[in-house]
Amino acid sequence: MTTSDDSSPRRYVVRTFGCQMNEHDSERIAGLLEADGLVAVDDEADADVVVLNTCCIRENADNRLYGTLGHLKTWKAARDGRQVVVAGCLAQKDRTIVRERAPHVDVVLGTHNVHRAAELVARAAVDGPVTEILEAAVIDDHAMFPSALPARRETDWAAWVTIQIGCDNNCAFCIVPAVRGEEISRPFDEITAEVESLVASGVSEVTLLGQNVNSYGRDLQRAARHAGDETARLRPLFADLLVAVGSVPGLRRVRFTSPHPKDMRPETFEAMASTEAVCEHLHYPLQAGSDRVLALMHRGYSAQRYLERLAEARAAIADLAVSTDIIVGFPGETDADFAQTLEVAAAAEYDYAYTFVFSPRPGTEAADMVEHFVDPAVVSERYDRLRVVIERSSAQRNLARVGRVEEVIIEGPSRKDPKRLTGRTRQNKLVHFAASTPLRAGSYALVEVTGAAAHHLEGELREVIADARHRTRIAVSAG
Ligand code: SF4
Repeated sequence: MTTSDDSSPRRYVVRTFGCQMNEHDSERIAGLLEADGLVAVDDEADADVVVLNTCCIRENADNRLYGTLGHLKTWKAARDGRQVVVAGCLAQKDRTIVRERAPHVDVVLGTHNVHRAAELVARAAVDGPVTEILEAAVIDDHAMFPSALPARRETDWAAWVTIQIGCDNNCAFCIVPAVRGEEISRPFDEITAEVESLVASGVSEVTLLGQNVNSYGRDLQRAARHAGDETARLRPLFADLLVAVGSVPGLRRVRFTSPHPKDMRPETFEAMASTEAVCEHLHYPLQAGSDRVLALMHRGYSAQRYLERLAEARAAIADLAVSTDIIVGFPGETDADFAQTLEVAAAAEYDYAYTFVFSPRPGTEAADMVEHFVDPAVVSERYDRLRVVIERSSAQRNLARVGRVEEVIIEGPSRKDPKRLTGRTRQNKLVHFAASTPLRAGSYALVEVTGAAAHHLEGELREVIADARHRTRIAVSAG
């Protein structure tokens, strides 16, 4: 066993297994550790602290976690003072089980106390292992919103902003309500203030984050009424927030994820259409196209209503791109149910879709529907058929953009061909193009679309329209 050099700062790595909310939490955990004097490194071999930010939405999350923890046992034993931290949804759900299965874990913290990450790491270094799981967010504690905490963002020009935590729905396949608790909206002014400060630091694109963003404000109005404020009109609506955020001077793009189809309101479409900064992209999760399956899932809408709302959105917002999530093989899904999913997917003409094979998440209603699980071979065949339908509309919709000049934000060199650049259009489409001079990530350019495939566009640079405004981060040597 070796010991670390006491004179150098402690070093950390955060590994994220999960959704955007988890990635955002990871940025905040990193920010808190840095505020406490730790320094980021890429490789566990160089680290003193490894944080695993877990998710139980993804398949086999627990196998992945405990597999990784097995490797970290050897890692921890190799040097004095090393610490293993488990955070996130799976920690919230499994609690004491984490330490029972992996006694070498130093800190277990849940989804409601991310803001205590650095403090718990410091405490465990002195007092030994600590598990701290809160049952619910502390409502008056603004630090419960990840965005209210210091952050080490993955990109300097784009940022996630949490507007709401938790979820009041009960989709049969989803563990989020159990691990993230009830829906709590972040105060309106706090959100706009954060966006203003992000823009002042050079951010030009924000993504508003929540489990069900378009029910934003429901609890704020309830609370105001409860406090006797009869004039509490009208809760601030998500539409109001879009307008307010989109009006922050200097902000070029606003995105949001995810809205719930049952709570989609015309006001949101109007706000999207009338607020220039709000991008022409709607992520609109279908999950299934059969009303019977939608009812089993407790989704709260029918396929027809879903498509009607989608038509309203497209009528209100010019050049709207639409993406979705679809689960194939929900327990009890018949051939006829699946045929309806194919029909709705074809009618919706998605720009792209995240398609998932159903896999049971322990603790959810659907996980108990074992006798109705669909034969994996049948699910696999259905999945392939759905992909054909999705890719057909993706390719067609991308092809329809050939010849147009698109505004793109430059994300950096293309992964496949570093001599080319990759950018993202307002419709959230990737564009690969050549540039004779290096362009800084975060800059905006006009690119003519010259080719299209199902998953990306090809283009030619026309002109740079705005330089990146953020300061370049200088790498800190870990010593
Ligand atoms: S709306 Fe449904 S799928 Fe989305 S987080 Fe809430 S329970 Fe989960």
